[in-house]
Amino acid sequence: MVHVYVGLGSNVGNRERNLFYAYDRIITIRGIKPIKLSRFYETAPVGGPPQPMFLNAVLGIETAISPFRLLENFQRIETLMGRVRTVKWGARTIDIDILLYGDKIINSDRLKIPHPLMHTRLFVLEPLVEIDPNVVHPILKKTVLQLYKELCFRD
Ligand code: ADP
Ligand code: MG
Repeated sequence: MVHVYVGLGSNVGNRERNLFYAYDRIITIRGIKPIKLSRFYETAPVGGPPQPMFLNAVLGIETAISPFRLLENFQRIETLMGRVRTVKWGARTIDIDILLYGDKIINSDRLKIPHPLMHTRLFVLEPLVEIDPNVVHPILKKTVLQLYKELCFRD
């Protein structure tokens, strides 16, 4: 079993219900054991066109499902929840990202782990620090708490 951290975000419709619904779908996948869900953070959109505020959370799970299988499962939930891919970084009912998959590093077109922008995004680091401050970024070799502090206190 591997510790996996999943980023959840929504800025269309009932955002809280969307996050809980995605959470329910994820934890009922056979082979996924939920460990911790962060609280929900209201955050300003980063990049993309002007759009509503997001609600973001991070979910920690344990699983033996491979990273690509996990991505397929998550994309199926996104589609099921009516997510339409139009503009890059546009508004969405649900976004499900694999942030960390143990200490695995993957660099394919379809899947990059750790998520390439995670250390630059407060809306990822803050909930991650809440549930597991000591988890280490396998490329940057720093804890997420260190990364969070560096991002908060940069000039
Ligand atoms: P974003 O999350 O950056 O707003 P999307 O959710 O639309 O963008 O995802 C775009 C593509 O990113 C997906 O089709 C997927 O193949 C790819 N991708 C690469 N790495 C990851 C990852 N770690 N988690 C989720 N999707 C990823
Ligand atoms: Mg995504």
